Formats: sequence, C-alpha cells, structure tokens
Amino acid sequence: MLALGGITRIFGTFDGVRAMMESALTARDRVGVQDFVLLENFTSEAAFIENLRKRFKENLIYTYIGSVLVSVNPYKDLEIYTKNHMERYRGVNFYEVSPHIYAVADNSYRSMRTERKDQCILISGESGAGKTEASKKILQYYAFTCPASEQVQTIKDRLLQSNPVLEAFGNAKTLRNDNSSRFGKYMDIQFDFKGAPVGGHIINYLLEKSRVVHQNHGERNFHIFYQLIEGGEEDLLRALGLERNPQQYQYLVKGNCPKVSSINDRSDWKMVRKALTVIGFNEDEVEELLNIIASVLHLGNVQYGGEEGNVCITSDTQIKYLARLLGVNGAVLTEALTHKKIIAKGEELMSPLNLEQASSARDALSKAVYGRTFTWLVNKINASLTYTNYSVIGLLDIYGFEVFQHNSFEQFCINYCNEKLQQLFIELTLKSEQEEYEAEGITVRHHFLLSLSEKFKGIISILDEECLRPGDASDLTFLEKLEDTVGGHAHFVTHKLADAKTRKVMGRDEFRLLHYAGEVNYNVNGFLDKNNDLLFRNLKEVTSFPILFPSSLHPFLTSFSLFSVCLCLPLQAATQFKASLAKLMEILMSKEPSYIRCIKPNDSKQAGRFDEVLIRHQVKYLGLMENLRVRRAGFAYRRRYEVFLQRYKSLCPDTWPNWQGKLADGVATLVKHLGYKPEEYKLGRSKIFIRFPKTLFATEEALETRK
Ligand code: ADP
Ligand code: MG
Repeated sequence: MLALGGITRIFGTFDGVRAMMESALTARDRVGVQDFVLLENFTSEAAFIENLRKRFKENLIYTYIGSVLVSVNPYKDLEIYTKNHMERYRGVNFYEVSPHIYAVADNSYRSMRTERKDQCILISGESGAGKTEASKKILQYYAFTCPASEQVQTIKDRLLQSNPVLEAFGNAKTLRNDNSSRFGKYMDIQFDFKGAPVGGHIINYLLEKSRVVHQNHGERNFHIFYQLIEGGEEDLLRALGLERNPQQYQYLVKGNCPKVSSINDRSDWKMVRKALTVIGFNEDEVEELLNIIASVLHLGNVQYGGEEGNVCITSDTQIKYLARLLGVNGAVLTEALTHKKIIAKGEELMSPLNLEQASSARDALSKAVYGRTFTWLVNKINASLTYTNYSVIGLLDIYGFEVFQHNSFEQFCINYCNEKLQQLFIELTLKSEQEEYEAEGITVRHHFLLSLSEKFKGIISILDEECLRPGDASDLTFLEKLEDTVGGHAHFVTHKLADAKTRKVMGRDEFRLLHYAGEVNYNVNGFLDKNNDLLFRNLKEVTSFPILFPSSLHPFLTSFSLFSVCLCLPLQAATQFKASLAKLMEILMSKEPSYIRCIKPNDSKQAGRFDEVLIRHQVKYLGLMENLRVRRAGFAYRRRYEVFLQRYKSLCPDTWPNWQGKLADGVATLVKHLGYKPEEYKLGRSKIFIRFPKTLFATEEALETRK
C-alpha cells in the first residue's frame, strides 16, 4: 500500500489512478478495485461482493460506484478519522486520494463554494449499517476543516451537541444496533460567504412512539429514561418521585434488558446534561423536560382494577406524582384515564372504559406526550441555531428499507420513504449522466424502469378513508377496499388475489407489495389505529385545558402548546408522513445530491466478519447493482483531453514529447495509434469517454512496460 501511495502522489491529478496503479502492481488481486465501475464483470453480483470482501479484509471499508460511496461498517475503530486524515482530504480532488467519507464531504463543500449550489448528502442503509456514525463524521469534518470565528464556534458546538441530545431522546438499544436511531433526520448545515458554518436546521421524521410503551425482548426504551434513572442526582430523582432502579417501571421492563454492555448510562447522562446547556436550555426548561420524562414513567405504572364496566385506578401514588409534575388536576386526570366522553343526543356523557380500553388510553397518552416532547426538543434546538440560508449542505440520515418476519404500518411508511428516495436517486443519477453527455455532445440511450412509488399513494388515501368512515370500518375492511381499488395493480397482491403458490406464504390479513428491492408482506392488523394517532378526546382536553396549565407554573407545556392542536380531528399519520416526505423530496430536488450507501457486514456487531448472505441482501435493497448499471450504461471513464494527453503522450511518437495542435486532435491521434476501436470510445467537446475499463487498463499497462 505504501508503494501505491507513493505512485499516487506522483500522478496525483489523474482520475482513478490508484485503481490503475493497483492493476499495474497486481495488487488489485488483493485489495480489489476501489471503484466498482472498474470491475470487468460489472453485471455480476458475485464479482461485486467479492470485491467488497477483499477490501473489507484489508480494512478498506470505502469503495466508490462512480461518485457514490459504499461503506461497510467495520465494527472497530480504524485509525482513519484523525485530524491528519481530515487535512489529507481537505481541498483535494475526489480521485487523488483513496475513497473516504471525507472525500465526499469535501467534494460537496467545494461544489457548494465554487458552483454556489446547495448540496445534500443522502445516507442510507439498514439499521446498524453506520448511517448515524457517517453523518457525525461529516459534521466533525466540517467543524474541523471549515473557517471559524468565535461566533461560528458557538454554532459549531451547538450543531455537534445536538447529536447526543437527539440520540438520548430518539435512540434506543435494539437487537440490531445498541444505539439505533428510532427517527429519521434531515439536517441542514448553513455556511456564510466565507464558507464558515453559521447555522443549521433539523427536520425529524416518524419517531417510533410505540417504543415508549412496549419493547421487544432484548430491546430497550429510549436511552433518556435509563440515563435519568442511572445518572440523575439524588435530589433530582426525589423531586421527580423516581427510584434508581429501571426494573420498577412497567415501561422499562418489557424487553428485560435494563443494561447494555456497550452503553454507560451514567456518563451519557452527564454528557446529555452538558449538551443541553451548550444548546442553550435554561434550568427551568430542563426541569420541565425531565418532569415530562418522569411523568411518562409514572403513567406506565398506573394500574387498573375493579370490575368490568367500572374500572378504577388501584393506587393513587402515580396520580399524585402526575398531578404535581404535569400541573394537572388529579381527579380530572383520573376520570380521563378511566372514562371517555361521548356525545349522545346532543349531550356530553362520560362513559366508563373497560380494562383494555383504559390501558390503551393510558398508553396513547404516554406516546403522545413523548412524541410532542421530542418535537418540542427539535424545535428548541432549531431555535438555538440561527437560520441564514446562505449556502446549505443537507445531511439525510434515514432508516433504510426494512423487511421483517412480521411487517406492519411502520415498515409500510419506512419502505414508502425508501421507494421515493430510490426513485429520486435513479432520476437524478440518470439526469446528471445525461447532462454530462449532452454538454459533451454525445448521445447515449438509457433504458431504466423508474420505481413505482405512486402505488403507495392510493393505498394511503384508502387507509384514510377507512379511518374516517364511521361504522364498521376495520383493518379487514381496509384490506377489502384495497383489493377492490388497487387489486389490479401488478405490484399488489393479497391472499385472495394470489396464485396458489403465493397463497401458501401469505396470511389472509396481509397484502404484498413488490418494491424495487423485493417483495414485502404487510399485515394489516393495527393499521387503522396506528394511522389514527389515537388519543381519546377527553384525554386531550385534560392536557390542553389552559386552566390546568397556569403559565406561571408550567411555561413549557403552555408556551409550546403541547396539546393545543387537533382536539377533534384525528391525525392521520400516513398522510402526514406522505406530506412531509413530499416536502423532503422538494428540498432534495433543489440540491445537488451525493450518496453514501452503508452496509452492515454481520448481525452480531462483530469486527472482521463478512456475512455474505446478509450483504447480498443489502446490495439488493440498496439497489447497488442497478446503480452500477446506470453508471456503466454509458461510459465507465471520462476525462479531460489535457489530462489524458499528458499522461499517455509518451506512448505515441506523434504526441511525444509535446502535441502542438488542438487537444482533441492530439487525443484522436494518440488513441488511433494505441489501436482503440471506434466502439470503445467517444470524443466529446472537452473529454474523452471510454466505454470499458479494460481499454484503459491495457493502456495503463503499456505505460508501465515502457518505463
Ligand atoms: P445506523 O445509524 O445505520 O443504524 P450506526 O451509525 O448507529 O448505525 O452504527 C452502529 C454501530 O456501528 C455504531 O454504534 C458503531 O459502534 C459502529 N460503527 C458504525 N460506523 C462505524 C465506523 N465508521 N467505524 C467504526 N465503527 C462504526
Ligand atoms: Mg442511526
């Protein structure tokens, strides 16, 4: 590798030079090619994966597909994120140095500066693949390499410190990732005319609120609960009425996993407290925030008893704490947690809930409280980051395509999002390829199917209709409506519509969609409830009734009107998500995109293990082969005439030592002499386009033998 590095420096400015050097030194056999475009057999998935494997074994976790960065999570600290590394990538051409996330970050930054065009970096991959780490590395890179003043330093600190805060409230230990982000995040970093980061803005997507009240075995609730319980000072816990034992809380015991070896809740607590201060939360705001977090734990411990039809709360300990922490009237809260308000013949009546309804009302309140608090946090962070909107680099860290044994509403939304992003990706990649060819006066025809995210839209509107329809609407009537309306679509199947073979692997309560990444069966159970962001009307009133929140006592709850919206209208989650996605697409479309595709090498979070089956799945879900095909549909290589001529002029007596005429003529003379066949290349206005890597390899080897 050292030898390669040396040669790279000498011929530094040449596109893809390392790859060719590797070829010349036959190191390619060992470390693979660093751009998949160079693979001879570019349609072979096996060759693709073999190349990934070779590089992974050598700790080379980054590989390009053209300008797209593929990253494999090493699950160990590689010494590749030092200040020295940052310096090495700063201001350097993409192809001069080995593939790295800093190269992508730097490239976006320079494009933003020189072309005055807003950028965005889209990071995708499944849970545990390294998306969040990647976005943090990019942020750190900008914090270190961009110019700064004292005022800028404050913003940099806040940008950096927003991460531990959002992770505390939005991340959790799952089976796949000890620090799994349970929300999607888009963050704008804003730069001033000197290129210094001066502001930022965060948009969050689809927080997994159900985790607040339920966790699967081996998983935890959001980090903040454990941090508070493990790390909170004695006085604080006393004031909040909490015990230092997560096992005491119903909302924390479901997964039977209070401790995680890779996580130190106590020191994380300290870090989060500090981060809140850096971001500019004052003591009162922190207190209100923690009151709410503690309230959720107390709510979880509210237990019901009594007879069916006459449910009561068995102990008033929790109600007392809740009344104090939230500043609500205990009796009103008790009634709201056990009754529902109905309107009969124009009169309001309180009708008692049964046990099951009462528990789900309690859980609905907990989820709503937590969800609103998270949104409040994001707004608060945004308010602390000035918004100048001069030039912007956006970072998108969003959940990847998800397929489980059992797929529900959440997977439906997530996969809808991914389908949209994939569509955007193909459109933009094709567009930029096409634009380059057109600018060079070259015609290439692409034949690619755009993915069909439109089919989702129909499904979502039918779901909303069913949610709003009074009477007998249920998950199953929703399924029937789907069969009636989208049943004819080639990408949609249900048990009833399926052929005999498919029917065997489908439940009667499922529908199947054919995504760009493959088939997924969705179980409709719970779709209506989840879409109806369910919260009984009188519960909303308890917590939105202004008198219950005297502003002197609870500025947090009133000033941010946690519950003051949507008193009567149910929130249709999918429609909301659809709208926010449409907005995201708009944001992304207005920017120049770069892509980072993250891959998880194994399911056991282990360093050095390359699980081929798992990786093959991800290569498929990420659409990497499709990506490579798009990239190779035209020409594998393109480079400017002067660069090409400079490098290879010694191979032809007519161009050596110097070509006197037009550059284009020089290149034409040179390639004719080298024996390039007409189908192997094209000459554009300023660049030569070479179709196959082998043509270039041969030329490169000729150069090597001459020396
Ligand atoms: P995702 O956001 O895709 O779910 P994360 O970014 O949280 O995944 O990564 C999961 C874990 O993998 C991290 O907590 C870290 O331990 C490890 N990891 C991810 N990227 C890297 C990297 N570049 N170098 C070392 N470890 C990494
Ligand atoms: Mg993440």
